[in-house]
Amino acid sequence: MGLMDGKVILVAGVANKNSIAWGIAERLHQEGAEIAFSYAEPRLERRVRPLAEQVGARFVEICDVTQDEDIDRLFDRFKAAHGRLDGMVHSVAFAPREDLRCQFTQITREGFHLALDISAYSLLALTRRAVPLMSEGSAVLTMTYYAAEKVIPSYGVMSLAKAALECSVRYLAYELGPRNIRVNAISAGPIKTLAARGINNFSIVHSYARETAPLRHDITIESVGDTALWLMSSLSSSVTGEVVHVDGGYNVLGLTVPDSLGGEEVCPDPII
Ligand code: NAP
Repeated sequence: MGLMDGKVILVAGVANKNSIAWGIAERLHQEGAEIAFSYAEPRLERRVRPLAEQVGARFVEICDVTQDEDIDRLFDRFKAAHGRLDGMVHSVAFAPREDLRCQFTQITREGFHLALDISAYSLLALTRRAVPLMSEGSAVLTMTYYAAEKVIPSYGVMSLAKAALECSVRYLAYELGPRNIRVNAISAGPIKTLAARGINNFSIVHSYARETAPLRHDITIESVGDTALWLMSSLSSSVTGEVVHVDGGYNVLGLTVPDSLGGEEVCPDPII
């Protein structure tokens, strides 16, 4: 018996085997879920189809989330193929590189619109079409980052998009709660993926998070997949509107001091 037996889950945002969405899809499939995939653009098909075959997916459809016609077609075809939906994973984000890397005051209007459209509005647009296919006990999950809560200088316009996304999670949870449809987010620590490559000095951010977070280890798509299983299954049946941190505990820190500034003395290793 798997935790997800008999459930059909739509996963948006697999670009390749390193994608967080793939870590989630694999974990849900291991527990018995039937996975359906949507991907952003034609060049991704040759990567997404073989992955979809690995988990026996029958439904793989292109959908650019900036296009309402694409979203309508996705759900029309999904309805024809599966008839109902038990959960949706939204793992989609984009911002123009220059609006990620520039000074905050230099973020352009166009970059702002595009980042918010793809990375935040798309959760509403997809959820609107998903809900009519969902029954009680269904779940929606999205992916966010700590830059929505605290200043992470390298994250530029995406910090604004993630703040809007997290706020959307709370309002969607409020609106869909009476139907017993839950909406949550995972705030993952840095993971080396395609999207992460756009972040300025990502490898420094990645190493810094690993070396300072209480658990001192890399965050993996497998560990995000485990938490996603909890949030997408009945194990979290009373949890909605939450942002769950899968970051090795990084978000509890109030002060980190690099060794070059005497970190070992200010923050001695707590393990005696
Ligand atoms: P990823 O593998 O590059 O996934 C991002 C996905 O978003 C890609 O499949 C991408 O497709 C898709 N996307 C972009 N524009 C789209 C559009 N217009 N329509 C449909 N899909 C579109 O990177 P990832 O790190 O797994 O990112 C997944 C989510 O996790 C994102 O929301 C990201 O912000 C979040 N997250 C990542 C980290 C991290 O450190 N990696 C940490 C916290 C949160 P294309 O490749 O075609 O652009």
